[in-house]
Amino acid sequence: MSSRLYDVIIVGAGPAGSHAAYKLASSGHGVAVFEEKSEPGLNVCCTGIISSECLHSLDLDTDVILSRASSARFFSPSGKCLRLQTPKVQAYVVDRLLLDKALALKAQSQGAQYFFSSRVTDIIIGKDTVQAETSCSGTRQVFSARSVVLATGFKPNLARKAGLGRIKNFLVGAQTEIDAKDVDETEVYFGREVAPGSFAWLVPTSVNRAYVGLLATSQAKRHLERFLNILLCRGRITSQEAEIRQKVIPLGTLARSYGTRLLAIGDAAGQVKPTSGGGIYFGHLAAEMAAELLDEALRSDNLTAGHLSRYQKQWKAKMGKELSRGYWLRWACAKLSDRQIERVFDVFNSDGMAEALLSSNNFSFDWHGGLILTGLRHSSVYPLLKIRHLFSREVGS
Ligand SMILES: Cc1cc2nc3c(=O)[nH]c(=O)nc-3n(C[C@H](O)[C@H](O)[C@H](O)COP(=O)(O)OP(=O)(O)OC[C@H]3O[C@@H](n4cnc5c(N)ncnc54)[C@H](O)[C@@H]3O)c2cc1C
Repeated sequence: MSSRLYDVIIVGAGPAGSHAAYKLASSGHGVAVFEEKSEPGLNVCCTGIISSECLHSLDLDTDVILSRASSARFFSPSGKCLRLQTPKVQAYVVDRLLLDKALALKAQSQGAQYFFSSRVTDIIIGKDTVQAETSCSGTRQVFSARSVVLATGFKPNLARKAGLGRIKNFLVGAQTEIDAKDVDETEVYFGREVAPGSFAWLVPTSVNRAYVGLLATSQAKRHLERFLNILLCRGRITSQEAEIRQKVIPLGTLARSYGTRLLAIGDAAGQVKPTSGGGIYFGHLAAEMAAELLDEALRSDNLTAGHLSRYQKQWKAKMGKELSRGYWLRWACAKLSDRQIERVFDVFNSDGMAEALLSSNNFSFDWHGGLILTGLRHSSVYPLLKIRHLFSREVGS
């Protein structure tokens, strides 16, 4: 058993965990971060697309950026193309390995202590302290702290054991990086053949290299293998031989993201955009809020569940509406047949709707709720999505 009493133990050195570690260590707290991988970001499965708003908030060197995006092409099941472009760069593709390393280094520079190859196997919350049982390179060790932050990604065990509940719905994302031809902007593909109920993508990472991936409710790897075959037949990629990685993306939030001496952040709490599956920015915002509250709670030595419940109120106020609108849109879109998707493309292409959305004040890479409502105000989309009744109150307001 380690004799040191930390202020905070953080489980997981992903973007959310390392940002919380950085903020808390900067405020002078003793922080220990446990990561089961041997280094941050190792074998991560993520496209790394973030908005300019997120990039600025992360405050990192531009070395982490692989490419910049101000346009994207969307393809219907039959191959109709809709190209959207904005005057300014909207998004960046960051190298997740470099991002995770940079965020961990930033936290370490403020004094956070990292333990790699160290899996937290159990959390025991006592009256005055929390104990984290760890398996560090195969050896069992126990560490103590005044509080704990779960930033484990979508790994439900510790949250469930701690009484925070379980997120029941999820998507599986599968991705590979591959040699590709003529991919100069992001391409997004819809349709039952490619990605049933969701979408697939090609995202350029460097000259003649691209991420190819998709989201699916099941069998993501098999769908991706089929998509790679289609791309090979079309001459868009030069080989199908690539390592496919998979990761689960939560679609829903924990019933409770706090407990006595305990907070959950990032994918662990379900803070992910349901429309795109992107979770880096929301996890970052939640880490910021969790660290601010925990800083105050540690100083006032008030780490009761009642006091820490303010964290849930704060993040729900910031992103709750966004998440619920996103769930409904995902639910509705997942039900669209290929014919209905073709109709949506026709509406976007012919009615000036794409331009209306892009020029709308509601256009934002991260915050889709306003955009969803703007889109729904366009009467020709209502019958396709069949969700008018769900939104009618908000649309009318
Ligand atoms: C195919 C795909 C593409 C994606 N593309 C994007 C994108 O373009 N943009 C975007 O914003 N998001 C994207 N996402 C989602 C994004 O990857 C996640 O939202 C993000 O990684 C969540 O960060 P996190 O810190 O909460 O968790 P994670 O990044 O999952 O980090 C959790 C860390 O905790 C560690 N860990 C877990 N359990 C333990 C334990 N018991 N003990 C010690 N360590 C533990 C893990 O090893 C991991 O390093 C994508 C996801 C997938 C699957």
